Amino acid sequence: MPLTYQPYDSDWVAAIRSGAPDANGQPAERSISDGGGNPCRHCLDEIPKGAPMLICAARPFPELQPYAEAGPIFLCADACVAYSGTSQPPVLKNRSECLLKAYGSNNRIIYGSGRITPTSEVESYCETLFSDEKVAYVDVRSATNNCFTFRITRRNDPSSR
Ligand SMILES: [Zn+2]
Repeated sequence: MPLTYQPYDSDWVAAIRSGAPDANGQPAERSISDGGGNPCRHCLDEIPKGAPMLICAARPFPELQPYAEAGPIFLCADACVAYSGTSQPPVLKNRSECLLKAYGSNNRIIYGSGRITPTSEVESYCETLFSDEKVAYVDVRSATNNCFTFRITRRNDPSSR
């Protein structure tokens, strides 16, 4: 099944880089990547060791409602290219597993879909989830910290965050 891997919206990322308030109403914090687990949610790759990065609160949902979790994310402090590939983003290459959760078009969790998934089985589990028409998208999160990493949709589905 063709899948689309969606990073955070480039316009939103550009605004955060220029000091716009994050999901908590605060400007992003500036830090330096230690190179060992600072995935950028825009280029969907690890921020290189020593590179400047931003830490901010983000809520990958269109409106406030009980399921609209906000959490911390990292971004390259400098401009980077939004991930647009058709295969698993490099951000998963150093991870053995991640948390997958399916959501309906109402942006609420589809109970029973959440599963810690080996990264080698992300696509096959998505195929299973997307066989249910109720599933609008699947969020990929850190298996250990629950941080939102990116969203997967059926190819050509305009749902984005
Ligand atoms: Zn980046």
